Amino acid sequence: MENEIERLEELSTVLEPSIEEREDLFEEAWKYTQWFLHDLEETHMFHEDLSKLDLLDKVPIIEHGRSASDTVHLMHAAIHTPGLNPAAPGHFGYIPGGGLFASAIADYLAALGNKYAGLFFSAPGAVKAENQLIRWSAKILGYPESTYGNITSGGSIANLIAVTTAREAKSIAPEQIRKSVIYFSKQTHHCVQKAVTIAGLGNSVMRQIALDNRFRMDASALAQQVKKDKEEGLIPFFVAASCGSTDTGAVDPFDAIADIAEAHNIWFHVDGAYGGYFALVDELKHLFKGMERSDSVVLDPHKSLFLPYGSGIVLVREGKKLYDTFECSANYLQDVISSEDEPSPADLSPELTKHFRGLRMWMPLQLYGVAPFRNCLYEKYLLTKYFHEEVQKIGFEVGPEPQLSVGIYRFIPKNEDANTFNAKLVKAIKSDGRVFVSSTSIDEVFWLRIAIVNFRTHKRHVDKYLNILKEMTSSH
Ligand SMILES: *Cc1c(COP(=O)(O)O)cnc(C)c1O
Repeated sequence: MENEIERLEELSTVLEPSIEEREDLFEEAWKYTQWFLHDLEETHMFHEDLSKLDLLDKVPIIEHGRSASDTVHLMHAAIHTPGLNPAAPGHFGYIPGGGLFASAIADYLAALGNKYAGLFFSAPGAVKAENQLIRWSAKILGYPESTYGNITSGGSIANLIAVTTAREAKSIAPEQIRKSVIYFSKQTHHCVQKAVTIAGLGNSVMRQIALDNRFRMDASALAQQVKKDKEEGLIPFFVAASCGSTDTGAVDPFDAIADIAEAHNIWFHVDGAYGGYFALVDELKHLFKGMERSDSVVLDPHKSLFLPYGSGIVLVREGKKLYDTFECSANYLQDVISSEDEPSPADLSPELTKHFRGLRMWMPLQLYGVAPFRNCLYEKYLLTKYFHEEVQKIGFEVGPEPQLSVGIYRFIPKNEDANTFNAKLVKAIKSDGRVFVSSTSIDEVFWLRIAIVNFRTHKRHVDKYLNILKEMTSSH
């Protein structure tokens, strides 16, 4: 047996590369990094050609591996290239990504150290750093010291945690679900609906509240609906407001919604996955008034803090409610000492073992400070306003003036149905590939969207897009 152990040890040492092998892999990754970042400015924004996917079948996972160079090339061709390129500055579709370089390095370092970041006992520094980021985010929104939160994989899971916490905090018993009412608007992100279903609240009463002329939840319509529901013996339970809706970037009237929620004992939730961190910008602070009165809020650092995908945050104002919902112990964790001061992610979320996600947020904030994030977000807001003004000069009709950094617009051609024309226009922009945009339909009207959230997007990219639009519409 001992010989066999020795033999197996030798065969498995390849998993711990030598200094030279580490350098080789690093060099390949570094060369690729330089090439990738250099290429972003001019890259084709949407690769529809899926032929390279075949490589994944042709070069399958085999018993003995390949060289670093071959592996990085395969990743580039078959994995990085097809589809969208959200890292590039010409990405104006959906809610753009970005992905800070410092965060990529932080991810690498987090994986290298591989701290067991779910528990204070095993990774006190990692847990404390994540809690600091949570408290920092809470402070930006005006949330109190009592706030607890969790750094999640994204906004959808953060919304799920919030909905589940609300269910527990309001003690919704199974037999009460059919009488419990959830309020939202047409602009509420669909992941809230998903969260409601996963949280076992799918049979509750869902009330879609009307919008005002800027696509914000109409608070007076909400008040009326709540009153009506109470008269009918229903239990108003949860209201989901948006801080920057995905479609139009609309920010709901938080103060008015908070008044209604307080008067009727409703859990007031704000989905700020896209818009939340715009609260860093003094010039936009007024939009957020009343958000600090909510019970829970969701933020997505992988949107408005430019982090790589896989970073959301949920904050619960009365943190104990979050703790009471998710705290759970197990015999095999009996050595774990719980900390009074620093709650562990494992007690505040469904996860136990988790990636130390916080480092990708902590490192850029340490390196650069808050100011560049504040300035970059304000720049994105102004760029969207600029686009909103300039696109009208080339004959486009626009939606409401952007509140944050999402805007809608459409071209009205002389001799063609506007919806058909604008749908074709989006397709043409996609195949052209110099930029990428997405669209939406609101009350049967087809709109193009612009979302400027990538930190790499600057005025020259917006001008490039305006020129493309001019080229594509001038003869219509
Ligand atoms: C993106 C987004 C979500 C979903 O978040 P993910 O991070 O994609 O899971 C929820 N709400 C809003 C407003 C969003 O923009």
